Amino acid sequence: MKALALNFEARTLDWSELDPPEFYANRDVLYRVHEVGVCGTDRALASFQLGAPPAGEQRLILGHEALGQVIDTGAGVKALNRGDWVAPTVRRGCTPPCSSCTRGRRDLCISGKYTERGILGLHGYFTEQAVDAEEDLVRVPLKLVDFGVLVEPLSVAEKAIMRALAVHEGEPRTAIVLGLGPIGMLAAMALKARGYAVRVQSLEPADHPRAAILRLQDIPYEAALKGSADIVIEATGSTEAALAALQQMPPLGVMVVLGAPDGAGPVPFLRMIVNNQTVVGSVNADPEAFRAAVEDLARFDRRALAALITRVRFSDLKKSLAGAVSMAPKVVHVL
Ligand code: BGC
Repeated sequence: MKALALNFEARTLDWSELDPPEFYANRDVLYRVHEVGVCGTDRALASFQLGAPPAGEQRLILGHEALGQVIDTGAGVKALNRGDWVAPTVRRGCTPPCSSCTRGRRDLCISGKYTERGILGLHGYFTEQAVDAEEDLVRVPLKLVDFGVLVEPLSVAEKAIMRALAVHEGEPRTAIVLGLGPIGMLAAMALKARGYAVRVQSLEPADHPRAAILRLQDIPYEAALKGSADIVIEATGSTEAALAALQQMPPLGVMVVLGAPDGAGPVPFLRMIVNNQTVVGSVNADPEAFRAAVEDLARFDRRALAALITRVRFSDLKKSLAGAVSMAPKVVHVL
């Protein structure tokens, strides 16, 4: 099989030939990969800022946002059948399992010894076929196949929203999403679907095509970071933006940080104390967030979802990893 792999020794990104995946366990599902999305993590991987190959190997096959169709199932597979569409989850638990991994919350792994497909220690999906255990796959209903590749990034946004709502001690009604990337836009759509008065803020100009996708859904876009809201979801990758929003948060405000890197700047501890504010970090997603992602895809505006995605050829991956950032929020490679 053809696969696109990062070589961590030679520091190159190249096509490799790969043996088809082994399909042997009872609960295994073999599926053909149809689409793979690209995100900021893939771009950071391609410039060797993060990630690692599987133990004992030099290469890591990229790709962690995938959509596939089942080819075969092991005898113990209960709910998936040949022809079903699936989106794989990314993280696999640590061994021996820590208390979080034991209770099915690998997204909260506390040993730090987890692995992630296409990111950390396990090959990803930028290839023709893959095998995963049934429990690591989310079924994508046929009517959502066009958007199934968004299940994984949307699950990350869903977990962030659940985290914010779980710690907010009042009655949150308003939300700001910082960032006009795919996670920011999906988070805004999910908040809107739950009835929050949400707006998106980022540095792209007001007439940016991504802002038009938000307007389609009556989600305001502001080309400036200003004001505040009960819930702030940071998906900008900017420390300055996160700190600026923190200075403005109302009493009981909750900010979830998803993308800001380490950085220096004033942290308003006293303001946070007297206003009972919370800053929450969030990564990856749990089974409930994946379920919420599939449910939300079914109720989001289909025109807006379609506008989020630009489909390109499998072979164009190098371009989308190293070239200019696309106008469309989500570049998806079709195999
Ligand atoms: C993925 C997550 C993953 C995180 C950290 C993100 O791009 O969507 O599933 O946990 O990167 O590696």
